[in-house]
Amino acid sequence: MTFKALVVERDEDKKTQASVQDLTEDRLPKGDVTVAVEYSTVNYKDGLCIGPGGGLVRSYPHVPGIDFSGTVEAADDPRYSPGDKVVLTGWRVGEAHWGGHSQKARVKADWLVPLPEGLTTRQAMAVGTAGFTSMLAVQALEDQGLKDGPVLVTGAAGGVGSVAVALLSAMGREVAGVTGRPDQADYLTALGATQIVAREELSETVKRPLESETWGGCVDAVGGAMLARLLGQMQYGASVAAVGLAGGAALPATVIPFLLRGVNLLGIDSVMQPYDNRLRAWSRIAELLPMDKLEGMIVPATLSDLPKLGADILAGQVRGRVVVDVN
Ligand code: NDP
Repeated sequence: MTFKALVVERDEDKKTQASVQDLTEDRLPKGDVTVAVEYSTVNYKDGLCIGPGGGLVRSYPHVPGIDFSGTVEAADDPRYSPGDKVVLTGWRVGEAHWGGHSQKARVKADWLVPLPEGLTTRQAMAVGTAGFTSMLAVQALEDQGLKDGPVLVTGAAGGVGSVAVALLSAMGREVAGVTGRPDQADYLTALGATQIVAREELSETVKRPLESETWGGCVDAVGGAMLARLLGQMQYGASVAAVGLAGGAALPATVIPFLLRGVNLLGIDSVMQPYDNRLRAWSRIAELLPMDKLEGMIVPATLSDLPKLGADILAGQVRGRVVVDVN
């Protein structure tokens, strides 16, 4: 019996090439749970792993896909039985370990969570790593104390940003979405953004370390000069959840917002999150995220679409969440 997977191969010149191939089960990596994958997605990291690797992939040939949902086929662990619906995000699956861009995956039971009650496997992947991370960011802001006033979301039309806008709006917050794609303003308004901020307004490097106190919190998927700039626009005592680096990894900032305004910079990592916190985030997502808005974010795709979509997400050209039906 064979199954289909996206396989990335690397030649002697270190050039990578991704193609859909038929594989046999003996090619699957070690693990205690074998999952018949139903859906996977395309996150920014997937773009790297489908393409040149970005230093994330350990060995080739490689099957990318940093998240998946599906049904347990075989389990060598008492926590799971055949037929159970499960979700995986993180743990370097799709980077160091073969991932979800495949009809089958084999992983450690510790890495899985049961499909959250109230979500289908397709909805769970419409959320995916990006949306799960948005929830972690929102929870971190809440735990630290969200201030009154608008909450800023950068990279708003991307995966992390779209889900963050919808979650914060569902919480009754005013949401300002920063986008470099003015044509996505209607999309962001439909998700619940009450204000659209043009990327150029925040992309200039810091000139004055403190500007007017504007934002009651921020989910930042962009990093770089934009993060440095918005730190100086946060209200007194407000927090920024630093999620991503779509605009760069450098942080050309001053420490003045921390010292004079008590601004907090909260680091968000979705990969190694402890199990209990994963359950907490997934259950909040199922409870809070309006499913009609989630549906509006979905770009449907198949395994053969992945090489193009991987390049598109690296170019910042994917809107919302790609949901890959691997079958
Ligand atoms: P997407 O590509 O879907 O979204 C990123 C968005 O950022 C783009 O859609 C675009 O939004 C904006 N953007 C892109 N390039 C630039 C640029 N040069 N300057 C400013 N804005 C830019 O990716 P994801 O939502 O999947 O991921 C977003 C970031 O979060 C990535 O860096 C990713 O690695 C990180 N991430 C981190 C996780 C963690 O555990 N910490 C987990 C998941 C993701 P617009 O067009 O609206 O401007």
